[in-house]
Amino acid sequence: MPKYSIVDAHCDTAGFFLESNDYDFFTRNNRHHIDLPRLKESGIILQFFALYIKDEYKPVGSLAYCLRLLDGYYRTMQRCPDDLQTIYTVTDLKKSLNSQKIAALLSVEGGEALEGELAVLRMLFRLGIRALGLTWNQQNHLATGIGEDNPRTGLTDFGKEVIREMNRLGMLVDLAHINRQGFFDVLKISSTPVVVSHANARSICDHPRNLSDDQLRALRDIDGVIGMSCCPDFVDPGHASIDKLLDHFVHVAETAGIEHLGIGADFDGIQDVITGLEDVTGLPRLVEGLSKRGFNREEINKITHKNFIRVLEKVLPDCHLPG
Ligand SMILES: [Zn+2]
Repeated sequence: MPKYSIVDAHCDTAGFFLESNDYDFFTRNNRHHIDLPRLKESGIILQFFALYIKDEYKPVGSLAYCLRLLDGYYRTMQRCPDDLQTIYTVTDLKKSLNSQKIAALLSVEGGEALEGELAVLRMLFRLGIRALGLTWNQQNHLATGIGEDNPRTGLTDFGKEVIREMNRLGMLVDLAHINRQGFFDVLKISSTPVVVSHANARSICDHPRNLSDDQLRALRDIDGVIGMSCCPDFVDPGHASIDKLLDHFVHVAETAGIEHLGIGADFDGIQDVITGLEDVTGLPRLVEGLSKRGFNREEINKITHKNFIRVLEKVLPDCHLPG
């Protein structure tokens, strides 16, 4: 029985579901970071599965590729109905948390998949998508990613419409990868809490993917959560360690508060790993570290799962699905 219950707000494992010949999700293997046996072993109670739109499908072909990923995801899930439960509503979430099953939440990483159409957003929602990372690192129809060097562009007019529609439908807005202007533009108009599913603290590691202290406080003010990433470059390039990652946790707790802190490891999306965090089974070791840094059991429960669950309960539709 795993000692901790963990919500992981980001992994790129679904990208492997397409290559079913060379990837077996159902058998423990060490070629990738996540598989079903290791999810269970690690105490994961809710795993976000991102459908990451690869560069080669941008801007043309994003939607078809997204649907291929989604098909691969559902074909994989059909084979383990007793182990994983895709959640669409707060009712599903609660039911899943009260069962032995691991909840799974579908997210799209890259607003290119919308191909500029709100109708596509609504259809993706009907197909089960419950979170959207507005951008990856580039500019797209919705907003500007951190890889662009124009600091003045942010959320576009279409991006604003997308946020309003996501708020109405009950979809979680994910601001990982968005630039600073876009981040604040979204916070100004979103009527529900948002998340930054995988990033760290800029004060500890000055990387453009990490959040500055004013961003962390703004995230707190909208009752959002940041999922701390295990990507070595966002922790401390060249010297990343569990201990250094714990410095990020402590800093976010001090700056934004424990209620706004979570885990978004980015497994199967990162090439290099931190020693001790080589795969999803390392997460309990990270949580042990929180305990050594003085967080008490209730605080640890908030960080490992309660904070993300609180946000999902606020954002997802209750039980019926709005059209
Ligand atoms: Zn990412």
